[in-house]
Amino acid sequence: MLHHPDQADGLFPVDDLLPPAPSGAARRPASATAFRDSPAAARMLDVREIHAEPEAAASDRGREIIARFPRARVTEVASHWRIPQLHGDEGNAARWVRVKTETLVLGVKKTLSLRPNGRSADWIAPGPSNGCAMACAYCYVPRRKGHANPITVFTNTGEIVGRLARHVAAQGPKRAPNQCDPAAWVYDIGENGDCSVDALVCDSTAELVAAFRQWPTAKASFATKFVNPDLLAYDPRGRTRIRFSLMPAADSRLLDIRTSPVAERIAAAGDFVEAGYEVHFNLSPVVVRPGWEAAWAELLRELDDVLPGAVKEQAAAEVIMLTHNRDLHEVNLEWHPRAEEVLWRPDLQEAKRSENGSWNVRYRAGAKRAALERLRGLVAAHAPWLEIRYAF
Ligand code: SF4
Repeated sequence: MLHHPDQADGLFPVDDLLPPAPSGAARRPASATAFRDSPAAARMLDVREIHAEPEAAASDRGREIIARFPRARVTEVASHWRIPQLHGDEGNAARWVRVKTETLVLGVKKTLSLRPNGRSADWIAPGPSNGCAMACAYCYVPRRKGHANPITVFTNTGEIVGRLARHVAAQGPKRAPNQCDPAAWVYDIGENGDCSVDALVCDSTAELVAAFRQWPTAKASFATKFVNPDLLAYDPRGRTRIRFSLMPAADSRLLDIRTSPVAERIAAAGDFVEAGYEVHFNLSPVVVRPGWEAAWAELLRELDDVLPGAVKEQAAAEVIMLTHNRDLHEVNLEWHPRAEEVLWRPDLQEAKRSENGSWNVRYRAGAKRAALERLRGLVAAHAPWLEIRYAF
């Protein structure tokens, strides 16, 4: 029996909340038919190099991952936070995409804390990964780890699930509806990565979906830009919200490097609802550039035209204006300068020093307010069924 202070006011005995790990974790297709074993998946992730903390490498999850990529060279590292040849080398900017395709890091997540959020979710959960195999030009995830930030998989998913179980039990039922959800406490499990891509590596996403399936007062949520059909077999029973991130196709082709095309994400929405997910949309980031309003209007009309009624009935969206960063701007100029033509707009943006000392760049208040109002108007005109949960 687990004991923890969080449990004091809990609704359920914690042990009842812990799912039977392997059998409940993955009702995915047999590996012969799994998408993650397909050539398409290998184009996203073709692991040749694994940097592993010793404890992570020795764990069941670590051994499973190392066995899954037999061609990869495994190098021991003291900490997943400090891998100078990966994170500290600016020369890697030129090899950014290759590093993300060919390198994995295995670590143990030490801090299993939750943070209140109130926007995308009620709580930011300790996630099963940090870093990403995709390479969106505006991504904030590399800001903390440095230039090349491939996926770090945390091998102690069981501890993460246990921590979440205790937290869910301690909260009890949601006391009042809010924009995150009318009835469930929402936990963002993918703040620093993309859970759909993590599912190409191991069953951590499946385990979390299986855990939330058993928690009637809570819901998992994660944003994604990658369509991984293996997730359709996870049986979430309405307790996981997947948020497909959308932006006009032309912006996405320029900025969302290595992601699934926007049309593919939209086309997948119906399948995910049918498979038991709640499907929301992240209209983000909104990038102000010449012609942006017409492009968003076209995207919203496309949603209205192609989404089945079952998606529209339960859909909601969050709208997030672009935030950029001066250091990332400098890095991008080395490998993807065309992206900076739309991301870096000193005529519209202002810089603000962040807590870690770097300069974040955002649209000036007046310009941002006007753009948000315009986007709300476009949603009302072209996709009136799409509730905007929040716009920021
Ligand atoms: S998909 Fe998300 S985490 Fe991955 S690079 Fe893009 S913005 Fe970053």
